[in-house]
Amino acid sequence: TRLTAWADSQQFAAEVEQKLGTSAAVVTQFLGRSGRAYDATVGTFLHKSLHKAGTYFSPETLKAVAALPSLGLTGTMHARHEKAFANDPRLVQLFDRYATYNGSDPYQAPATLSLIPHLEHGIGAFYPEGGIYAIAQSLHRLGEEFGVKFRFNEPVREILTAGDLITGLRTDQDIYDFGLVVSNMDVVPTYRKLLPQQPAPERTLGQPRSSSALIFYWGIGREFPELDLHNIFFSADYKAEFDAIFQQKTVADDVTVYVNITSKKTPADAPAGQENWFVMVNVPHDEGQDWAALTAKTRRIVLAKLSRTLGVDLEPLIRAEKTWTPPGIAADTSSFGGALYGSSSNNALAAFLRHPNFSGRLPGLYFCGGSVHPGGGIPLCLLSAKIVADLIS
Ligand SMILES: Cc1cc2nc3c(=O)[nH]c(=O)nc-3n(C[C@H](O)[C@H](O)[C@H](O)COP(=O)(O)OP(=O)(O)OC[C@H]3O[C@@H](n4cnc5c(N)ncnc54)[C@H](O)[C@@H]3O)c2cc1C
Repeated sequence: TRLTAWADSQQFAAEVEQKLGTSAAVVTQFLGRSGRAYDATVGTFLHKSLHKAGTYFSPETLKAVAALPSLGLTGTMHARHEKAFANDPRLVQLFDRYATYNGSDPYQAPATLSLIPHLEHGIGAFYPEGGIYAIAQSLHRLGEEFGVKFRFNEPVREILTAGDLITGLRTDQDIYDFGLVVSNMDVVPTYRKLLPQQPAPERTLGQPRSSSALIFYWGIGREFPELDLHNIFFSADYKAEFDAIFQQKTVADDVTVYVNITSKKTPADAPAGQENWFVMVNVPHDEGQDWAALTAKTRRIVLAKLSRTLGVDLEPLIRAEKTWTPPGIAADTSSFGGALYGSSSNNALAAFLRHPNFSGRLPGLYFCGGSVHPGGGIPLCLLSAKIVADLIS
């Protein structure tokens, strides 16, 4: 089955009715509910610290509390989708995929996460000109306008303290005096490497991690008009795929493959007549697995699957190749285990178990990024920075 998941919810619902059989009204109703859940909770759960008493005494929080019974804290995402689309396993699978947007498992994650589709079909997706990196460049420019001094290629080795006070940072080049520090490094290595003398919140740091990914960057020597900017090739057995990731901590024999091709929107991203493929498969975070073997296996599976679906022998078309593995992601970004989204949301209380945006023991120490509240993914990481800015000011 081939389905176009239009951003426009009416168009998407009509496409589902035509290709899969579930009535457009059922899809629209589901997306409407997803939107209402989002509106009721976004102010409290995503825009504010959950660890400050003030958050719990606002009209927005009352709205979120009133909506709690309908949010689905007790059932799983998958169960909610099965109930909504009873006779349509392919539609259930399509909606289950939204759990991967924060590295979670739809068979464990609470139905609350069923509000994620609203972001795509209700609010809409955005395409940063110049790629995702353009967001970092914009922040850099904005920071400079505000007088921020940037020091690149100078990793922080230690956050310095005196008693309960933050006194500065140590790098290989220098010691800097600061009374206030915001760590954007994953919270696990922040404690283990930068604050080794301080007691760490072990229960928080021990929360199950989100999934990681294997990425194949392929320069493909021809164009595929049947493909678009975002393409998903689903596996036949989604349960087996998530069990492999979260229970067996390995890669299943059939996997769901995401292929992103920015040259579809920005032709200059690839040579004329060719395409730049970002090919991603969700895998467990690194716990010492044999990644050379798992990468070779996954590459084989992906090539066979895409070749079969596209009716072409893909491997000879690969003109350039680079691979990124969970240990590589961990080494390049300091993300613990190479998890893409900090701790997973495979638990109804996950939102409350993430590390706060501030230290309870060391006034002057703050945290932002995917491993702390409100969680991983670029939009939430940016919101974490906004929460920290609000807390400090
Ligand atoms: C392949 C891949 C695909 C993804 N796809 C999506 C997607 O489609 N949508 C989405 O929303 N999210 C996606 N994510 C997840 C998203 O990128 C992360 O959740 C997010 O970037 C985490 O932000 P962060 O600020 O916590 O960490 P990072 O973006 O990793 O930034 C941390 C920065 O801190 C630096 N640093 C670390 N330690 C130190 C130190 N000691 N001193 C100085 N600097 C240090 C690192 O070098 C890094 O630049 C994806 C991630 C990957 C890897």
